[in-house]
Amino acid sequence: MMNTSIILFTRDLRVSDNPALAAACRSERVVPLFVFDDVILAGSFGVPNRVWFLVDCLADLRVSLRRLGGDLVVRRGDPAAEVARLARHTGAGSLFLADERSGYGTRRLNRLFGLGLEVFPLPGVTVVPPGELTPADGDHYRVFTPYWRVWKATRPRLAADVPVAVRLPSGVDPGPLPRPADLVPGSPSPDRDRGGEQAGRDRMTAWLRSSADDYEQIHDDLAADRTSRLSAYLKFGCLSPLEVAKAGPEAFRRQLAWRDFHHQVAAAFPALATQDYRPRGQRWNRDTNALDAWRHGMTGVPIVDAGMRQLHREGFMHNRTRLITASFLTRILGIHWRDGLRHFNEWLTDGDVADNAGNWQWVAGTGNNTRPGQVLNPLRQASRFDPQGDYVRRYVTELADIDGPHVHRPWTLPATRRRALDYPPPIIDIE
Ligand SMILES: Cc1cc2nc3c(=O)[nH]c(=O)nc-3n(C[C@H](O)[C@H](O)[C@H](O)COP(=O)(O)OP(=O)(O)OC[C@H]3O[C@@H](n4cnc5c(N)ncnc54)[C@H](O)[C@@H]3O)c2cc1C
Repeated sequence: MMNTSIILFTRDLRVSDNPALAAACRSERVVPLFVFDDVILAGSFGVPNRVWFLVDCLADLRVSLRRLGGDLVVRRGDPAAEVARLARHTGAGSLFLADERSGYGTRRLNRLFGLGLEVFPLPGVTVVPPGELTPADGDHYRVFTPYWRVWKATRPRLAADVPVAVRLPSGVDPGPLPRPADLVPGSPSPDRDRGGEQAGRDRMTAWLRSSADDYEQIHDDLAADRTSRLSAYLKFGCLSPLEVAKAGPEAFRRQLAWRDFHHQVAAAFPALATQDYRPRGQRWNRDTNALDAWRHGMTGVPIVDAGMRQLHREGFMHNRTRLITASFLTRILGIHWRDGLRHFNEWLTDGDVADNAGNWQWVAGTGNNTRPGQVLNPLRQASRFDPQGDYVRRYVTELADIDGPHVHRPWTLPATRRRALDYPPPIIDIE
């Protein structure tokens, strides 16, 4: 048995089914460590919604580890330097962490390998690790349907047990948890979700009880708001994707397979957030006024503005409006997907390089979409997925009193009522 090990938490902030934590806890003593990485905080990750959520997650993880007799050791700086320092101080000879193959995750792992410790990267960020499933003719799947077929037939790994005890070596100062406002400027969305394993489990249990059975029929109904809203908990690893997949119905598992799919694409093509995956020679408009109207939810197209305002209010947007707003920006306004991605990334609590970029490129036709020419008509989408207009009225308060089909087409109101509205005309003709 190893004497002392370090478990470096990254995006696996949970004690349930955490293979790296379970393996580290087989040592006599274990140092559970989280490092606020200056590079990550200063980069595109470091926005209020995600930093606030992250601090919630760490507070909750600390409570769980204390219950098991240990603690969460919190440091700030460079993870490799902090691991090296703690290893020297405690005599730790091994390091466990979640295997994460984003561009940055891979570079971080390579640096950790250079520390002279035994390093064990273990699964847990996705249901099926990137690279585990490969087609006969390549290193990753480029099209979802064949990926889904093999994903479904894959035998899942065994879930890891919650450790019975976490024995911290003596003389390690756990350190205080910083306040989010000391880590990043700005304020989070007013109706943001609270992070943490406990909050994630509560949500999962409630959703499985109330909505899982009719997920397939209702997941696109915007006003019903009956999707799981587990994405941020999955992003930060408050919940094990394997556990979530086992609990949900097939149509829901398919969505988790989409997540794995994008992660295996991003692992094979780390430039996914900046470069076209499948360049098609598109020309993009540089229309800053239109981009600003889109960002602020002021395009005059209610279904688009409702989605953008949900994003600001909650740090979350329904998948259907993510599709509609992204298609509107790239296909109708002809603005580059990277501009849209950057704005989503500033607000989404679940904002994740692989999922955000994979989906933006999918909509823009530069990614893994087998129908790259597809354009979503926002008015048709609105009448199909928000037939009563309740979703629009919830977020576009200027239209709260407009009933009937006018709510999706306020420009069809009689001129006197239209002029009384404090809401702009559409920035582009979409009829
Ligand atoms: C332009 C665009 C950008 C997106 N950016 C992100 C992002 O940064 N982070 C993110 O997690 N999702 C992203 N998505 C995917 C999807 O919109 C969200 O995962 C979903 O809306 C989250 O809500 P939910 O948890 O209620 O989903 P549910 O419908 O309950 O689905 C369950 C889980 O499956 C996963 N999932 C569902 N759909 C997708 C998908 N298309 N791609 C990848 N995973 C999926 C999520 O982890 C989600 O929590 C994006 C989609 C679009 C169109």
